[in-house]
Amino acid sequence: MTIYSADPTAKYVSIFCEGTEANPHSIWRIGTYRPERDIDAPAGAPAYWSESKTGYQSPESDTLIPINGKSIARLAGDKHVSREESRRNPDALNQGDSRTRFRFECGVCKKLVARRAEAVFPLFDKLSSVGVSVLSLNALAARL
Ligand SMILES: [Zn+2]
Repeated sequence: MTIYSADPTAKYVSIFCEGTEANPHSIWRIGTYRPERDIDAPAGAPAYWSESKTGYQSPESDTLIPINGKSIARLAGDKHVSREESRRNPDALNQGDSRTRFRFECGVCKKLVARRAEAVFPLFDKLSSVGVSVLSLNALAARL
């Protein structure tokens, strides 16, 4: 397994779950998200946040911790569009009903927060601008 170094200067938002105060559990790392700027995006538009494939970043570690699964789905209507599919057929994601959905799900307590990218991107921009890089799933749910 490849171990990736964390870039301490990179902007990121990491989401984890440790259950609730009443029902705590060991940490489950859901994902790390990084902003990508679309060169065609108008000034002031939220960044496009994509999922880190190399691992979970936190201030406590110099390396990225491997994570299982992925939490971003691209949909056209009710149909999932894979990255390979969208590369083969770029129009698949350029329909009026296409969208990107985030599914933040804890593998331990099964808490699930699913939102469209349109709701998630501005929140991640805001968190990042005030220096918040790690957030619990409960805190995320309260802000979405
Ligand atoms: Zn949990």
